[in-house]
Amino acid sequence: MVKAKEEAGVAPLRIERVALHWRALAETLIPLALGEDEIDAPRFYERLRGVPGEAFARAGLEGALWDAHARTLGVPLRAALGARPRPVPSGLAVGIYDTVEELVERVGRYLAEGYRRVKIKIQPGWDVAPVEAVSAGFPGVPLMVDANAAYTLADAEVFRRLDAYGLMMFEQPLARSAHADSAELQRQLKTPICADESADSLADVEEIIRLGAARIVNIKIQRVGGLSEARLMLGRVRAAGLGCWLGTMPELGVASAQGLHLAALEGFDYPTDIEASARWFVDDLIEPQITIDREGFISPPPGAGTGYEVSREKVRAYAVDSSEFAR
Ligand SMILES: [Mg+2]
Repeated sequence: MVKAKEEAGVAPLRIERVALHWRALAETLIPLALGEDEIDAPRFYERLRGVPGEAFARAGLEGALWDAHARTLGVPLRAALGARPRPVPSGLAVGIYDTVEELVERVGRYLAEGYRRVKIKIQPGWDVAPVEAVSAGFPGVPLMVDANAAYTLADAEVFRRLDAYGLMMFEQPLARSAHADSAELQRQLKTPICADESADSLADVEEIIRLGAARIVNIKIQRVGGLSEARLMLGRVRAAGLGCWLGTMPELGVASAQGLHLAALEGFDYPTDIEASARWFVDDLIEPQITIDREGFISPPPGAGTGYEVSREKVRAYAVDSSEFAR
């Protein structure tokens, strides 16, 4: 169902992590939900906070509850979350290639589909040259880089050189806990630093704001443990005057569909990493598949909840394991 991994620098789905999340759901989180007399989905995160660890599992359960809540109310999920309807701009993210020529060819091919910006992965030895080539090849296309924490403050010169390209942002140049170093690097640069891996929780966001470690925050629903936490983080980031956008994890359309609704909230200022289903999947579990329009926007289908339906048939076809839960 997932396309063969074609790009380095894009995190592969790790099966052992999936097993841990499955266990957290089966042994702790689903029994917790089934033990409630009545679930108030918008407040259920308060209960989930009592179950530390396995943020992906908490996000999965909470997302399902929010979707069910919106469907019960008969409104789109974004309305239940407090967002007005608007199409969500989508950005292209590409990994690391063997050659700059291959990268430029690939970016050109995908950009033709309409994406609103390009994000390229960088790492030591693969940074200034690919940025130079993509900037020259696609002038006027908003460009950003994601370093996935691959550098240290000793590499500041690389970022000072990249600063000349007028990029939208440098995503996570330094290690996830290197808040003070990131603040020091930001002081040397015009280009905003974007916190990704280092913005794991509200407490992290407070520290980033206090130190000036970033000017933009990438919020990922799974990494922060669910839609409610993500919404709280957005509120804090906005109040501090920082920019924000919605990132993605290796995720099925079920999660991307929820992300599209969250990303309609005011304050998500930059294009999301959510791309068309066909970009990563031969066949995704949701119907319809996620598509982008020619201008690079995604509009969820009308209807209650996410507007997308999980195909039971596909779940049966692709399932490797299953469990049933009852009160
Ligand atoms: Mg990132």
